[in-house]
Amino acid sequence: MKYQIDNFKISPKDFDNLESIIKSRFKLDDFKYKILHKSIDARDKSNVNLIFRLMIETNKKINNKNLTIYEEDNFNLPYPKYSYNDRPVIVGFGPAGMFSGLYLARCGAKPIIIERGGKVEDRKKDILEFIKNKKLNINSNIQFGEGGAGTFSDGKLTTSVKSKLNKFILNEFVKHGAKDDILYDHMPHIGTDYLELIVKNIREEIISLGGEFYFNHQFIDFDKDDYLNLTIKNLNNNDCFKIKTNHLLLCIGHSARDTIKKLYDKKLKMTQKSFSMGVRIEHKKNDIDYSQYGEFSKYLPSAYYKLSTHKDDRGIYTFCMCPGGYVMASQSEENTILVNGMSNNKRDGENSNSAILVDVKPEDYDKGNELDGIYYQEYYEKLAFNLSKDYRAPANLVKEFLNDEVAKDLRSINTTYPHGLFFTDLGKCLPNFVINGIKNGIIGFDRKLKGFNNPDAILIGIESRSSSPVRILRNDERISNIDGIYPVGEGCGYAGGIMSAAIDGLRTALTIVGCEYKE
Ligand SMILES: Cc1cc2nc3c(=O)[nH]c(=O)nc-3n(C[C@H](O)[C@H](O)[C@H](O)COP(=O)(O)OP(=O)(O)OC[C@H]3O[C@@H](n4cnc5c(N)ncnc54)[C@H](O)[C@@H]3O)c2cc1C
Repeated sequence: MKYQIDNFKISPKDFDNLESIIKSRFKLDDFKYKILHKSIDARDKSNVNLIFRLMIETNKKINNKNLTIYEEDNFNLPYPKYSYNDRPVIVGFGPAGMFSGLYLARCGAKPIIIERGGKVEDRKKDILEFIKNKKLNINSNIQFGEGGAGTFSDGKLTTSVKSKLNKFILNEFVKHGAKDDILYDHMPHIGTDYLELIVKNIREEIISLGGEFYFNHQFIDFDKDDYLNLTIKNLNNNDCFKIKTNHLLLCIGHSARDTIKKLYDKKLKMTQKSFSMGVRIEHKKNDIDYSQYGEFSKYLPSAYYKLSTHKDDRGIYTFCMCPGGYVMASQSEENTILVNGMSNNKRDGENSNSAILVDVKPEDYDKGNELDGIYYQEYYEKLAFNLSKDYRAPANLVKEFLNDEVAKDLRSINTTYPHGLFFTDLGKCLPNFVINGIKNGIIGFDRKLKGFNNPDAILIGIESRSSSPVRILRNDERISNIDGIYPVGEGCGYAGGIMSAAIDGLRTALTIVGCEYKE
């Protein structure tokens, strides 16, 4: 018999002995078990617990008030045959492109994938070159290249989208190389070190099914007759060639500003949308861990937090928290500054960081053009660069920032940002309402997470691309105003993170092959 036990509590100290604790609590001899869900209850810092949902298989009868009969979740997707005469073309191999590509390949569509950046292994070299020598490859960097923007990230897999596809995607990540704890952790994350391998394995499966990849190739234009005629530029030699298709999936991410501007010129309908701007904050990892878990922190993984507040009708919130992580120079355009965060699977770096972001609404930037949000981001990213003119990021420490002063140097916390910091008034590279929002956020968050306003914590600017400032419109069949063009994922305004972009990619592929499934 297979049972499901909910709310099974143990002390974090005992995690390595979970099997023997199950055995003694239920007085079992012969049994198998599986963790279905694991979370941490740290509401009372003097009594932190791990909370499990477990499947236990045994012939013995178990008596427990939290027990039900376990029902296997056998959700899987069907793979109807791709029945069109053309091959679909996917532009961009981030999460949206990977999951639409994988699914369409399994349906026999032999997708053609165009990616302006390098293969993940070459891309890594390009990123290291930028870190070491400040030489940015504008097509192969933290934003662009195989795996998309999230490859060099913390790989957090949380999303507010409720769908059975979540589980499907997590299972695929595991099949392609992720650790299986992402299937049950309340806050699953993969880590950069594993993401590289997973991305490569997904590429290999697509190729094995007849898919074709063009790395270092950029989609630059199109015209339309019976087909869409795409112009593809080989970035190695600048030669161009054409591909015909009736299914163009635009999985381009939010940093492909040149492509979005081109699509706007080609009359693809789009609208402005809200996004956010702010800074990264770096604390010592041990301080955050202690603040979250007290004395239990030594038995638990690096602590995560997610904080939010409201002021003057604007949301202020922490975003993309990277426990034990690094602040990354994340630009895709020269002479701009843009930060984000990443961590390895173990999350064992010295610092923890997160963004503190403030809502930016169309009324803040609207000058009558759909692309005004992009121009607004570009303006501030350039301002941030022009303060140091050498990729040192504008920065301040919390104490001075809250007192409208400028710190002279770092104090008790070292930075992980690779190009060094330039201490300045952050108001020189962010709008006033963002600066005020960050101040309110720091003070408010400290009430929820003691030590958040550590005077020595480092604020590093600027974080401006948490989501796309435009949405390319699409109908219920997911097609734009130009037949055959499918706007997908974050860049087109339909996702905000790895999971939601992957879900959007998958749903688009499901729509194309006419696959229906029950949520
Ligand atoms: C440093 C960093 C850390 C992050 N951490 C997390 C995290 O922990 N968890 C999370 O959920 N999200 C995280 N994100 C956000 C997440 O990466 C994105 O939400 C997600 O990658 C969006 O997926 P996408 O497929 O829509 O677009 P992208 O991943 O941006 O992929 C778009 C791809 O299209 C390619 N492309 C663009 N234009 C063209 C063109 N014209 N021709 C050919 N190719 C083109 C680009 O090279 C790119 O590879 C992070 C982002 C960054 C930058």
